[in-house]
Amino acid sequence: MTELSWDAKDKGGRYCAPACGRGCTAREHDLAEAKAEVLARALGPGWEPEVWENLGWHYSVQSPCKRLSVSPSLGSFMAFLGEPGGIGGRWSAHGETPQEAIKAVIAVAVAEYEEIGAIIEGLA
Ligand SMILES: [Zn+2]
Repeated sequence: MTELSWDAKDKGGRYCAPACGRGCTAREHDLAEAKAEVLARALGPGWEPEVWENLGWHYSVQSPCKRLSVSPSLGSFMAFLGEPGGIGGRWSAHGETPQEAIKAVIAVAVAEYEEIGAIIEGLA
């Protein structure tokens, strides 16, 4: 079986890779890029936009330390926290704003850290 390419080509207003095949448009791609740039700027210096295609154009932004990423999610935002440069994250949380999502995901991780601390206290 031949593996289909994820290399999107601009063809008559379409901008869609053979591996996707949804028929994504150049306008959808450009909109995702623009929204990613706005979100990265809103979060501050060093936040990096990322745009990818998978049955549509999607985007997220990654923190300067590469442990946090934020993406749009059903009218709100989803933040992920994990090892630097990892895909997705070990913890995730929603927020009405990107900043709320970031606060929420850090709170989830801190709560788990404290829970683990309480469970293992005095064992070693
Ligand atoms: Zn596509």
